[in-house]
Amino acid sequence: MTKFAEQYVESFMTKLIAKNPGESEFHQAVREVLTSVAPYLEAYPYLLDNKIMERMVEPERVIMFRVPWMDDRGEIQINRGYRVQMNSAIGPYKGGIRFHSSVNLSIMKFLAFEQTFKNSLTTLPMGGAKGGSDFSPRGKSDAEVMRFCQSFMTELQRHIGQDTDVPAGDIGVGGREVGFLFGQYKRLRDEFTGTLTGKGLAWGGSLLRPQATGYGTCYFAQEMLATRGKSFEGQTVVISGAGNVAQYAAEKAMQLGAKVVTLSDSDGFVYDPDGLNEEKIEYVKYLKNAIRGRISEYAKKYPTAQYFPGERPWKIKCDIAMPCATQNELNGEQARALVANGCYCVAEGANMPSTPEAIAIFQEARILYSPGKASNAGGVATSGLEMSQNSMRQKWTAEEVDAQLHRIMSDIHAACLKYGTEEDGYINYVKGANIAGFIKVANAMVDQGLV
Ligand code: NDP
Repeated sequence: MTKFAEQYVESFMTKLIAKNPGESEFHQAVREVLTSVAPYLEAYPYLLDNKIMERMVEPERVIMFRVPWMDDRGEIQINRGYRVQMNSAIGPYKGGIRFHSSVNLSIMKFLAFEQTFKNSLTTLPMGGAKGGSDFSPRGKSDAEVMRFCQSFMTELQRHIGQDTDVPAGDIGVGGREVGFLFGQYKRLRDEFTGTLTGKGLAWGGSLLRPQATGYGTCYFAQEMLATRGKSFEGQTVVISGAGNVAQYAAEKAMQLGAKVVTLSDSDGFVYDPDGLNEEKIEYVKYLKNAIRGRISEYAKKYPTAQYFPGERPWKIKCDIAMPCATQNELNGEQARALVANGCYCVAEGANMPSTPEAIAIFQEARILYSPGKASNAGGVATSGLEMSQNSMRQKWTAEEVDAQLHRIMSDIHAACLKYGTEEDGYINYVKGANIAGFIKVANAMVDQGLV
C-alpha cells in the first residue's frame, strides 16, 4: 500500500470508531474493505471527491424497535428488533434476519455492510441490508416462536416490500420462522408478494434455496481448487456449524468426493474419522431441523465419532476447512494449527468467521482463502432467483436454479481473479471480492447524485 492509502485508512478508521463507539464487528468489516479499496480510491480520485466510502459506512436507514411477546407461562418478554437498510444504489435492500442472543447494532451493521458488497458480486440487482433480534429460538416452543415472529413482523412490515426491502433467513431463522413472518406480513398488508425469500415450496419458495449457500460455497471452492489443479475428490474436509449452511456444504462436499469429518454447534464439535455419509447427514438434518437437538447426540448415535465439548474443530487435520457457523469463530492460533496440519484451502460459508489475524496467516502461508462475501453469496443469489420467479409468477426446475447458481459462483470467482491476482500470481480473494463488489455500487452512487 502507498503512504497515501495507509494514511487514508488510518484517518478514516479513527473517525469511524469515534462516531460509532463500541461497534467492534462493524469496525472490523469496514477496515477489511477499506484496506482493499484504498489504493483503488487513490487511482480514481473522483470517488474520493464524491466521499463514496464515507457515504457507504453510513446506513441509509436504521430501524430499531421494541418486540413485546408473551411466553407459554403467560409472562411478558421484551426483545429488541433491528433492520439496517445500508445501501440501495443497485437494487431494493436485501439481506437476512438473524435471531440470536448475541445480536446487537454492531453485528447488524457489519452484516448489512458486508451484504452490500456480496449482493453486488452476485451480478443481480440487490441492495444491502440486514435485520434481526436478540431473541433466541433455542429452547422455545413453536407457539412462542410464532408469537415472537408475529410481533416482530407487526412493526417490520411498515418498512419492507417486494420493491423496497426483501428479508430472508440467517442464524436462527429457517423455514419455520420465515413461514410465521410471511403469514403475519400477508395478513397485515393483505398482499401475497415475494417480500420474503426462503419461503416454503408450496407458497412461493424456490427449489434449492435451502441448499444454495452450502452448495454455492462448494462450487466456489471447486473453482479455487481448480486454480491449483485440485478438486474435492479424496480430500478431508473440516466443517464448523451444523445449521443450514453447514448441512448443505457437507452434503455437496461429500457428493463431490470429499470426506467430511467434523460438524459443530455452540456447545462443541463432533469428529467422525470415518466421515459422514448420506445416512449420517440425513440424521443431522433431522436432529437439527426437526427435533432441534444438539450435535453431541451425533456421537451417541455413531460411536466411532468423538464429541469435544466447548471446543472448535480447527485442530483436526484436514485439506480443506469450511467455517459455516458464525463471525470470529476461527482465530490466529487456530489458523496456525490448520496451516501446520497441511490445510491448503479455507472457503468461508459463514459471514466473517475468520479474525483479521487468521486471514493474515492464511495469506502469508499463500494458501487458498476466500472471504464469505464471495464464497457464501450463493444463498442471496438464489434468493434473487426466488424474487425473479415470484415476479414472473413462475417456478423454475431444480436443474435450472442449480445451473444459474453454478454460473453465478463461477462469475464471482472470475471477478475475484480479475481484481485480486497479485504480481506473484497469488490470488488475494479478499482484495478481489472487495474491489469487484465496491466498483459497481460506487459508480451507481456517483450516477445517482448526492442521495
Ligand atoms: P443456522 O442457525 O442454521 O446455524 C448456525 C450454526 O452455527 C448452528 O450450528 C449454531 O449452533 C452455530 N453457531 C451459532 N452461533 C454460534 C457461536 N456463537 N459459536 C459457535 N457456533 C455457533 O444458521 P445458518 O447456517 O443459516 O448461518 C451460518 C452462518 O452462515 C452465519 O454466519 C450466517 O450469517 C451465514 N450465512 C447464511 C446464509 C443462509 O442462507 N442461511 C447465507 C449467507 C451466509 P447452535 O445451534 O448452538 O446455535
